[in-house]
Formats: sequence, C-alpha cells, structure tokens
Amino acid sequence: MSTNYPTIIPQTDPRAGYLAHKSEIDEAIARVLESGQYILGRETAAFEREVAAYFDVSHAIGVASGTNALEIALRACGIGLGDAVVTVSHTAVATVAAIELAGATPVFVDIDPKTFNIDPNSLGDAIKKHVSGLGATAKGRLKAIIPVHLYGNPADMPAVMDIAEAYDLYVIEDCAQAHGAAIQGHKVGGWGHMAAFSFYPTKNLGAFGDGGMVVTDDPELAERSRMLREYGWRERYVSSITGTNSRLDELQAAILRVKLHHLDVNNERRQALAQVYQTRLTGSDLTLPSERPACYHAYHLYVIRCKERDRLRLALREQGIDTGIHYPLPVHQQPAYAKRLDVPYPLTHTEQVSREVLSLPLYPELPLSDATRTADRIMAWYRDN
Ligand SMILES: *Cc1c(COP(=O)(O)O)cnc(C)c1O
Repeated sequence: MSTNYPTIIPQTDPRAGYLAHKSEIDEAIARVLESGQYILGRETAAFEREVAAYFDVSHAIGVASGTNALEIALRACGIGLGDAVVTVSHTAVATVAAIELAGATPVFVDIDPKTFNIDPNSLGDAIKKHVSGLGATAKGRLKAIIPVHLYGNPADMPAVMDIAEAYDLYVIEDCAQAHGAAIQGHKVGGWGHMAAFSFYPTKNLGAFGDGGMVVTDDPELAERSRMLREYGWRERYVSSITGTNSRLDELQAAILRVKLHHLDVNNERRQALAQVYQTRLTGSDLTLPSERPACYHAYHLYVIRCKERDRLRLALREQGIDTGIHYPLPVHQQPAYAKRLDVPYPLTHTEQVSREVLSLPLYPELPLSDATRTADRIMAWYRDN
C-alpha cells in the first residue's frame, strides 16, 4: 500500500502488548538470562503445564512455531508419504505447508462463506468421493482433517468430529488464530485428537519471536510429539525415531507465561472492539462477521466482506487507517501450489471471499475511539460512493 500517508491507526501492534505489561515482561526476561538455562528448561516446562490447564488438555508440548506444531502433530499420528489430509485453501499458507512438510498431500474443500471456516457439507461430500475413488484426483490414503478456526471463529467441531469418526480419520485443529475461542464452553484445541497453536507476535497469545505448541489428551501422541521435537530422543542422545529440532526457547516461554495471564482480558477487549464495529457498521452493504450460537469468537481478526474492497482499503489508507487482507490469494492459487496441486472439488466460496475480505484495525490495546473512528469513516465512504 502507499506509504505517503502516515499511519494513525495501525491494523495490529504487537509492541503495544509489550508496553502494556513492560515491567512483568522485563522481569521474566531478566530471570531467564540470569538462570543460565536457555532451551527446554523450567520456564518451558511450567508454560506447558499452564497451557494444558488453560486449554483443559492433558499434554502440551512447546515447539518452535505454529507450522512446526502442525507438522509434528501430523507426524505423531503417523501421517506421511502416501497419505492425504483434508483442509481448506482459505487459510495461512502454513496450514498447507505443514501437510507437505510431513510428506502428505493436501486435499482442499470449500468454506462456509458466513463463518469463513470449513463447510461440513463440502467436507462430507469430498471425503465420500475421495474414499470411493470418485471425483478425487489427489493421490494418497485419507488420514486426517485439519479444520482451521480462522480469524478466531470456532469451526463447526461437532460436525467435523462426526465425519471424522465415520471415516476413522484423525482431526488436528489449527488453533493458530483462536487462543481462547470456545464451543459450548469447551475451548478449541480440546475437540480434536490433537491441536496446534502459534505464538507468532500478532496472534492472540503472542511471543516476541517464533513459538508454537502441540496439545493432545492422548499420552502416546504426546510422547511421540515430545520425541519428534528433539531428534527423536526419549533418552538424551538416543534417537529412537527420526525427529527434528523444533524447541520453544526459555525466553519466549517466560514471556508467554506473563502474557497467558492476560489472555482472557485481552480477548474480552477484542470482543468489545468487535462490538463497536458490529454496531456502527450495521445497515451498510458490508457483510459483517457472524458468531455461531454457543460459540466464543476470539476475534484474532475482525474481517468484513466488501465488493469494492480495494477502493475502500485505499480510501482508509489515505486517512491513515491501516487494514489487512487475510488472505489475498487462496493457497491453491499461489504460484508454488497452483502448478502442481490437484483441486478436485470446486472452491467457489474460497475464491469469492479472497477478493472481498478486509481486516479492520483490531488488537487489545486499540482505543475504542479508534474503532469508532474507523467505522465512521467506512460509513462516510459508503455515503459518498
Ligand atoms: C500463524 C498461522 C500458522 C503458523 O504459525 P507460525 O507460528 O507462523 O508458523 C498456521 N495456521 C494459521 C491459520 C495461522 O494463522
């Protein structure tokens, strides 16, 4: 976007999350530096216990990124070469990259355009066809589903779990954007067989570097994940299986322990900001996010749909208001994937929404008045156009 206009309202601001809790974070950092233990020590172990308690799961394994968390979860389930994994194309490339890193082949299904999440009907149809060999061109034995809780909005997990059970598939939730989101009072991350979190700085629970977490209730999947993150070791220097190096470091773990304490309050702030947008933008031609019944939306992003998205975006930029596009190109249309990945089922909604989505400014420290101002500018633009 044009940089001629100074930013007055940023779309996101991870630095504000530091300044809001500066002394606590500085203290945590100093504690680690003084400890002399920088990789897989006390802080990581404590953070893993605290994360498991927060998400109400039995095991949490800290890893180096959300992408790694997905890859390790897949590999822990024994998924690799010759296997296929169903997911969506309207997601961060990371979801799909992880499937290929594990050696498996992605199979895409369409989204529900209202929730932006995997459409259980498309999912059921695609799996039925894939299993019977009809319509599906992707090679591989179907082993797992990765639903993504995009923008912090929980995917329809009861429906996904029913389908998975019918076809004996693993479910690995991609919770990278949904720390604290819940369905019927149960947090996402506890619905599938495994789940992956990212602590990329702008996520709802963000580090000041890279980080990720694998969670599960299954002790065997947990143990395999733990071994996979460090050279396949159960016992130090003895590789029982082939693993990798994907460790959460002590500095990030100590920082994340501080930030975990503030996650609920920060998610409430995100909800309050979303409410400002929801109220002020009602009555426009925009399609606003919808919350499903009995669900807690973590509002990682507040995403509207606008037919003239690019013009609106530029008009806001000219007034110093930054917005984002998550994501401008579905994964199956990205240059690296389009050339070689099969797309056996039409992804009509996926392709449509990528042309219309716009992420408005939203982060816990954003003043409500900035959300009000952004919404008012959008309504004014509509009146003038
Ligand atoms: C951020 C993100 C990831 C990957 O996380 P990294 O920590 O950046 O590797 C995976 N899936 C989704 C949906 C994400 O938003």
